[in-house]
Amino acid sequence: MSAQPEPLLDELYRELILDHYKHPHHREPLGDPDVVAEGYNPVCGDEVAMQLDFEGDTLAGLAISGRGCSISQASGSMMSDLVEGKNIGEIRRLAAEFNHMLTDADAPVPEDLGDLEALQGVARFAVRVKCATLAWHTLEDGIRQHERGNGAVQHEEM
Ligand code: ZN
Repeated sequence: MSAQPEPLLDELYRELILDHYKHPHHREPLGDPDVVAEGYNPVCGDEVAMQLDFEGDTLAGLAISGRGCSISQASGSMMSDLVEGKNIGEIRRLAAEFNHMLTDADAPVPEDLGDLEALQGVARFAVRVKCATLAWHTLEDGIRQHERGNGAVQHEEM
């Protein structure tokens, strides 16, 4: 399935997106992940796979891989930088901020989203929003698996 044409984004942001796309962060697989999650965006053919390690409520480590358009893959790479080491509540707050930025083109850009602010222009291209949020939905799925599975806190006590 072929990817959709790239939207016209600010040149500086475009370079940042392409840099994450070509050199994605957190690509190195985890040895023995607590949770594995996969996401698929049929509109564009994007795929994301994630391995997650939790320590209580904290996302202690993650590995992310996938294939698809530059926006989907860059968003996952940017997200991985942002969420590692954060607790679940904070991650969900950031996800809501990111989602808001993408669904309201006139919303002010939040200051704590790191490189993800480069994706602000995607808000003007409704069909691409699913590309940009794929990694976040996949992460939320992984967090839910964690919450269902291990009762959050006891889990690291060996
Ligand atoms: Zn896409």
